Amino acid sequence: MSYPKVSSTTQSTKENHGEIRTLRCSCCGESTQGRQWKYRDYGYGLCSKCVTYIKNHKPFGQPAMSESEFIECYGIEGIHYNV
Ligand SMILES: [Zn+2]
Repeated sequence: MSYPKVSSTTQSTKENHGEIRTLRCSCCGESTQGRQWKYRDYGYGLCSKCVTYIKNHKPFGQPAMSESEFIECYGIEGIHYNV
């Protein structure tokens, strides 16, 4: 029996999301490289600096975002941000 390699699965996922492009960070407004995430405004993404910030801070007294909430808002690490 053979199973698909993880790397080939990752590769096809990346291809489905299109090319890396320059996006504006929706948090700080700086230019960053990433892929458009379907739930983000067109042309907006998240820079690596703000990924760390958002993951480690509790906005407006709310609990920190869970992994699934973060994916819903900003996409998948290595595909939509931190590419
Ligand atoms: Zn930013």
